[in-house]
Amino acid sequence: MLVALLPGDGIGPEVLVEARRVLDAVLGDAITYEEAPVGGAAYHAAGHPLPDATLNLARRADAILFGAVGDPACDSLERALRPEQAILGLRRALGLFANLRPAKLFAELADASALRPEIARAIDLVIVRELTGDVYFGEKGRRETADGLRQGYDVMAYDEAEVRRIARIGFETARKRQRRLTSVDKANVLETSQLWRDVMIEVAADYPDVALDHLYVDNAAMQLVRAPGQFDVIVTGNLFGDILSDQASMCVGSIGLLPSASLDERGKGLYEPIHGSAPDIAGQGKANPLAAILSAAMMLRHSLGRAADADRIEAAVAAALAGGARTGDLGGTASTRAMADAVLAAL
Ligand code: ATP
Ligand code: MG
Repeated sequence: MLVALLPGDGIGPEVLVEARRVLDAVLGDAITYEEAPVGGAAYHAAGHPLPDATLNLARRADAILFGAVGDPACDSLERALRPEQAILGLRRALGLFANLRPAKLFAELADASALRPEIARAIDLVIVRELTGDVYFGEKGRRETADGLRQGYDVMAYDEAEVRRIARIGFETARKRQRRLTSVDKANVLETSQLWRDVMIEVAADYPDVALDHLYVDNAAMQLVRAPGQFDVIVTGNLFGDILSDQASMCVGSIGLLPSASLDERGKGLYEPIHGSAPDIAGQGKANPLAAILSAAMMLRHSLGRAADADRIEAAVAAALAGGARTGDLGGTASTRAMADAVLAAL
């Protein structure tokens, strides 16, 4: 099994080193790793944020473990050369259309949530976000209205094949959990959402064991804060998923905790923390490595067929938190290394 390690910029390399230590402790040398630069690091080394050699490694690998990209030193570059283009390019080139973002409260961290502890404790959900369509990739531009006003426009479009494949991921994910799927749309207003809803209902016929319901996105946003315990799996489009998953992250505490998986048709995936390169704390040994460690666990479960090892890592993270280890974002003083050491000790 070959894993591509793409550490990237800022705290990316710092947290990926710790994820690697945890993987080594669990798997020994069962995995081969190859590392390549991406983002600002790749721009500085090779003149492009996603060099061919990095993309080729990502294609060859069974899975990709990604740190973060983003580099203030690249702010003045033209858009095609900016670090962020590397992750967009990887998603597009590899067809990574399904983004899975689990959000679960670690019981010990109820006080870190933006919600009241008794509400936060009920959170255990997965957001399945479509990643390669919607208003992000429709035609966009500027034009002038008949009255001579400047107008901007972005076309929102989904075809039925795009909806069907993300619907299947939603149902399959729900099937492995509590068998409840909530499809989030804005079908009272948007044609795209009406098609989305039609296709969800069609696909549901293949999953009679999963309970499907539908929520408008405005109501879903409210329910996520009011009573998040009602959700098991949420499936939604690119734009709504972007907004709801950031909202969900604050409901379970720190951005430094949440992992994600971006999967293609065959389950090959790219795994990354949801946080960015955090230039404000880079190089200081302060970053919380848990999102990266939990991303490695997701990689074992979804791409490498090692669910039991993933369970072990997640249990060790919970035990480390229960033992009191906390980085600064969680109100503690542990260094990146010390936080990972606590996980290793729990393993
Ligand atoms: P980028 O452009 O790379 O996405 P950003 O500034 O938009 O960067 P983040 O890098 O996610 O967003 O940082 C947002 C805030 O969260 C920063 O103050 C950062 O220090 C903090 N932060 C992000 N990740 C972590 C982490 N793993 N541990 C501790 N704090 C973090
Ligand atoms: Mg960011």
